[in-house]
Amino acid sequence: MSFQPGRHFLQIPGPTNVPDRVLHAISYPTIDHRGADAAALTLTCLEGMRTVFKTAGEVIIFPGSGTGAWEAALVNTLSPGDKVVAFDSGHFAGLWVKVAKNFGLTVDVIPGDWRHGANPEALADRLHADKDHAIKAVMVVHNETSTGVTTNIAAIRKAIDAAGHPALLMVDTVSSLGSIDYRHDEWGVDVAVAGSQKGLMLPPGLAFNAVSAKAVEAGKQAKLPRSYWRWEEMRDMNAKGFFPYTPATNLLFGLREALKMMIEEEGLRNVFLRHQRHGEATRRAVRAWGLEVFAANPAEFSSSATAILMPEGFSETELRAVILKNFNMSLGAGLGKLAGKVFRIGHLGSFNDLMLAGTLCGVEMGLELAGVPHRKGGVVEALASLSASVPPAV
Ligand code: PLP
Repeated sequence: MSFQPGRHFLQIPGPTNVPDRVLHAISYPTIDHRGADAAALTLTCLEGMRTVFKTAGEVIIFPGSGTGAWEAALVNTLSPGDKVVAFDSGHFAGLWVKVAKNFGLTVDVIPGDWRHGANPEALADRLHADKDHAIKAVMVVHNETSTGVTTNIAAIRKAIDAAGHPALLMVDTVSSLGSIDYRHDEWGVDVAVAGSQKGLMLPPGLAFNAVSAKAVEAGKQAKLPRSYWRWEEMRDMNAKGFFPYTPATNLLFGLREALKMMIEEEGLRNVFLRHQRHGEATRRAVRAWGLEVFAANPAEFSSSATAILMPEGFSETELRAVILKNFNMSLGAGLGKLAGKVFRIGHLGSFNDLMLAGTLCGVEMGLELAGVPHRKGGVVEALASLSASVPPAV
């Protein structure tokens, strides 16, 4: 590959751009993971993660990816043959179902069109009909990265409560945590699943569970096989700042720095507002181009990623290839049944107005070069939206 000057634009919806400060922190010399400095590092990271998850409960950090955290949520709380309810709300929701099936769980998948979030009414029907409480857990993705559609988790909780059903609520926050407001305790979530590589502004490599007391209790009866992902040893060791095996020490250096930036310096509220502004500006550009945002319900628009439908007869693969070759920018592919049909713009993580402007310029120029029918002026609309919504200086 020939030299490409300037920075690569990594505008897939994760992994996201890692700030230089975080990269520098990761490059500190590795320390003894059984020493006092490591303990202080772990405890600081756990405290920060509790703030980000908005929980007073427990957070567990694994070396791993989001898929590992999915597995950990299931194997620590359920037994072979247990019934769980999930939603056909997108590609990642489907992959989590696959993990559940691989462990012998019986998964009742509520159908969906992928353009809407998980449906609380359909869930309520399932739970009301389940008089014997055979359903042990509800699995839902907060922000479906493949579609740019969010689910109202508070409404899902309400449906469970209204049915008086004891099922655990498990929520995938992989592409919402640190970019879209997520409230673990307020929404009564039992197990949350997350990864380091999206809103948290780190490279891939850390996996997280936030865990309620009810989930810990359920775990005492759970019979699914587990070893690497066992919460028990992790919780005991983490309480003192250590791990039952070698942690990803240098990623924890990065996490400590990223948490400081998000919580102490920018403030979580501002982080979410920034993502909302970027989501809104992106959608305005899309509409001005005469293209269609894949998410159908404005109340469910994602602030971290936008999926855009290609005009009939034009492939996203070709468009993304043209943009990568000419403008050194990676955009998200269509996944699963959306392959070829949508491309995705990631606008999450360490990202600002001018990065979004550059991203949208690359898309607009790419649409032209790839011969995709569109109108001009998406960038102009986005810039107007951004300048009209600049937060007041404090
Ligand atoms: N859940 C969601 C919503 C995701 O977007 C992803 C990955 O992009 C995953 C889970 C899987 O995470 P990982 O690829 O880190 O295993």
